[in-house]
Amino acid sequence: MSKTFEIAVFAGDGIGPEITDPTVKILRAMSDASNEYSLNFQDLPAGAAHYAATGESLPKDSMDAARQADAILLSAMGLPDVRYADGTEISPQIDLRKELTLFAGVRPVTVREGQRGPLSLPKGKEIDFVLIRESTEGLFYSQGCGEITNDEARETLLITRDISEKLFKFAFELAGNRKKAGRGPGRVTCVDKANVFRAFAFFRELFDQEALRNPDLVADHAYVDATALWMVQKPWDFDVLVTENMFGDILSDLGAGLMGGLGLAPSADIGLEHAVFQPCHGSAPDIAGHGLANPFAMILSAAMMLDWLGIKHSNEALVADGNRLREAVERVVARGKTLTRDLGGTSGTDDAAAAVQALVAMETV
Ligand code: NAD
Repeated sequence: MSKTFEIAVFAGDGIGPEITDPTVKILRAMSDASNEYSLNFQDLPAGAAHYAATGESLPKDSMDAARQADAILLSAMGLPDVRYADGTEISPQIDLRKELTLFAGVRPVTVREGQRGPLSLPKGKEIDFVLIRESTEGLFYSQGCGEITNDEARETLLITRDISEKLFKFAFELAGNRKKAGRGPGRVTCVDKANVFRAFAFFRELFDQEALRNPDLVADHAYVDATALWMVQKPWDFDVLVTENMFGDILSDLGAGLMGGLGLAPSADIGLEHAVFQPCHGSAPDIAGHGLANPFAMILSAAMMLDWLGIKHSNEALVADGNRLREAVERVVARGKTLTRDLGGTSGTDDAAAAVQALVAMETV
């Protein structure tokens, strides 16, 4: 029997609405074509423009509706000129992460044959790995509460057993699912600095305990500095990488760079119950309103949402449609005919999205 999933949609600021509209249009078409699931979308207000107009960045009603939804699709929020009284920017996407305990920041890095990027891939090699960034503690734990005196500044890094155990369980499950789907060898690499810091020795110890519970998967370790080098020298060797918040923050931008830019970098912030799917990029106010934004990172994030919903609810049609949508974007990118300006093309947002929708529709027939 077809199940209906409620999707909370935050169109956000800047280019947000421009990339949300075509993405939801594609999802609606996939939902309409399926007998196995249907998606119901609810638009929710939040963001910098909303704050400027009302004094609220993430209204309680929006938060409540997001909490009730099966998944949350978010474009980008924030505008450099709209700030709280303390001078910081409004960032409801970070509030959602904290409020819903979304500890696993999932950042896939994919470069297919034919796709242009800063690296030339050896023949027969493609890049397809996932970086998992812990997203609720680590060096971001003391965000906004660092101690500063006249002579020194101090921030605290926090690694907890509770969040680390959940994080590593998630990482091994993801590697197992990727292996089943034929996308990786089933290998999880713990990225840390356990040679220097006791907190990372603790992190690694907890990782090793989870590894013992997954004898069918390979577990190994790498120091974060070496990982940065290998992400450039041999990124095709990675499968699933799991790391602390700050290390993940930095490495995920390196990952986006490998793909050719932020316009192709999707992400998900996942907890035990809830998940937010959003592109890695921001609201790009410099190009907003001109129809130039690249919609692919947003569409790839939507594909991750279908995959996550499908696995969570044992709905194979959703998993299959998530794959179909991701592969359609990958093919449009590799073909190179309908690319936006940031990828060296001349197409606008709607034409780039329409190319993906056409491929998806062709395969539905
Ligand atoms: P940005 O990612 O918005 O833009 C950086 C550069 O990349 C710009 O030149 C922009 O035009 C380009 N770009 C980004 N996305 C693009 C796309 N889809 N297609 C084509 N080009 C794209 O980063 P920024 O300029 O530092 O931040 C702008 C605003 O977004 C700020 O208010 C910031 O706080 C916010 N922000 C939000 C998020 C989020 O919602 N997760 C993330 C980062 C920044």
